Amino acid sequence: MGKLDGRVVIISGAARGQGEQEARLFAAEGANVLLGDVLDEQGAAVAREIGPDVARYIRLDVGREEDWAAAVQAASDAFGKVDGLVNNAGIVRFNALASTPLEEFEQVVRVNQTGCFLGMRAAAPELAAAGGGTIVNVSSYAALSGMAYLTSYAATKAAIVGMTRVASMELAGKGIRVNAICPGAIDTPMTHPEEGADTGADAGALAEFYAQLIPMGRIGRADEVARLALFLSSEDSSYITGQPFVIDGGWLSGVSY
Ligand code: NAD
Repeated sequence: MGKLDGRVVIISGAARGQGEQEARLFAAEGANVLLGDVLDEQGAAVAREIGPDVARYIRLDVGREEDWAAAVQAASDAFGKVDGLVNNAGIVRFNALASTPLEEFEQVVRVNQTGCFLGMRAAAPELAAAGGGTIVNVSSYAALSGMAYLTSYAATKAAIVGMTRVASMELAGKGIRVNAICPGAIDTPMTHPEEGADTGADAGALAEFYAQLIPMGRIGRADEVARLALFLSSEDSSYITGQPFVIDGGWLSGVSY
């Protein structure tokens, strides 16, 4: 028996990285999953690999209201209801405050912050109609501790924690729990600008740099974050709502030396 048997979960940004691992793990635990992303080929390939009976892919630009409406409809049409959402899609741009163009700031807000808002707003009525459900919003370590060169990113990730608290209060009466995940440094394309990921960071060993700062001596894996998302999406966390959960190998505890 899986921890998500009979559940239907929409996961944004599921073509790669943490979202992909969440889609694979949730399906393995019995859920039907709708993967959304803007990387259509990759996303469709992941859904195919998981299996057409339990996984579908849809183009979902999280900054577009109409894409969210279509995604909720598609999940409901394919699997009969929607009772879970993981707002995982995100982008990062490294830049000094003084040299961050307004367009870049607004681009990060659009994906990370507006995307999370639109996702919760689109899914909440479906989750309520299903008799309740779970929302997991992917925030960041950067919401809780200062990180230089991440003004736009930190702003959006702090906003996600704020929205998570508010949504948890408004939706508790409908049986919907809303929590946030705050990952430290995780081994995904986002931490590998040297592999061509568009982050604004210089190509170089970003992952190795982070590892030196972390008490556990390594950055995290996407499957480790996926297991936290599973916990927060399953009955194992039945009395938990409104909280940010840090998963960072001890980084937030302080300086390691
Ligand atoms: P990633 O870059 O591999 O994955 C992000 C996914 O989001 C990609 O598939 C990308 O195509 C998708 N995406 C980007 N813009 C989108 C849009 N407009 N609509 C839909 N999808 C879009 O990185 P990841 O590490 O897997 O990131 C997942 C989440 O974790 C993000 O919210 C990120 O901010 C957060 N996070 C990552 C780290 C880390 O160190 N990797 C740390 C803290 C938080």
